[in-house]
Amino acid sequence: ARLAELLARWAPDTRPPLAGSGPHIGVADLTKALAQGEIMPWYQPKVSFATGEWLGVEALSRWLHPTLGMIPPGRFIPLAEEQGLITLLTERLIEQCLQDKAHWQTSGLAIKLSLNISSSSLVEGKLCDRLLEQCRQKGINPNLITLEVTESAFVKDLGHSLEMLSRLRMHGFGLSIDDFGTGYSSMQQLSLLPFTELKLDRSFVDRCHEDPVRLAIIESTLTLARKIGLRTVAEGVEDKATWDELARLGCDECQGYYAGRPMPQDQLLPWHEQWQAR
Ligand code: C2E
Ligand code: CA
Ligand code: CA
Ligand code: CA
Repeated sequence: ARLAELLARWAPDTRPPLAGSGPHIGVADLTKALAQGEIMPWYQPKVSFATGEWLGVEALSRWLHPTLGMIPPGRFIPLAEEQGLITLLTERLIEQCLQDKAHWQTSGLAIKLSLNISSSSLVEGKLCDRLLEQCRQKGINPNLITLEVTESAFVKDLGHSLEMLSRLRMHGFGLSIDDFGTGYSSMQQLSLLPFTELKLDRSFVDRCHEDPVRLAIIESTLTLARKIGLRTVAEGVEDKATWDELARLGCDECQGYYAGRPMPQDQLLPWHEQWQAR
């Protein structure tokens, strides 16, 4: 926690990610990092477009390397997936996140938690049991947990994905289609799978007020989502103009630098005070 504190002060999320040509990171480094607990969740707030109210957070993994500094998930999640370490990583993360969630709960903070789930973890089978076990252990209602999956995670094997997602949904977990619009899902798949939320990808959201085509895509997606009963989240809202546009279009939740960046869990309360005082 001290390391997180120090890094948050010295390496806020504004720091550019390590260059692709940076130091080589191998499977041995990642295994060691997992064993030593160097990978931890940071949290990005999600707020209501209509009221500004703080609704929840998305957990985003950060590797706080003792000498290389903060390594962004784009550099180690794909490696973990390739090397068969993603199940272990996700398991650790779920434990840590649900512990944080339980802690918020006891301090009277009723916010929802969103977790990113890789396709391999989704089809692996034990995910649902692990989540349920952790929820029971920590006294958390699965209704307050949303699992974010990307379209590529379920287009590969629709039948199996449907089975897994239905099981999770049956137990109360929320299900979100992440990065909507960047993958290959069809409307038919959308209507078949038991999703509860749709996340508009940053590539559509970013400065949408300046681009009529993007705006049209967003508008029709929001209409579709509403009609089939999905909550809508816009990711990557960076400025007031984008906020105003999405609020006007009736999007439900905002996630983006405009509201707040990903941060270590101990910075959430100070962020909230600032946000309320804005
Ligand atoms: P994602 O799920 O699409 O997460 C949103 C990403 O957009 C995050 O990048 C977040 O920091 C960034 N972001 C949020 N708001 C803004 C904004 O206003 N402007 C800009 N420029 N960026 C914004 P991050 O944290 O680097 O994560 C990248 C991806 O890594 C995530 O994309 C997700 O797919 C994956 N990831 C992160 N943590 C985990 C994890 O624990 N498990 C798995 N399976 N994947 C993860
Ligand atoms: Ca996500
Ligand atoms: Ca996303
Ligand atoms: Ca994205």
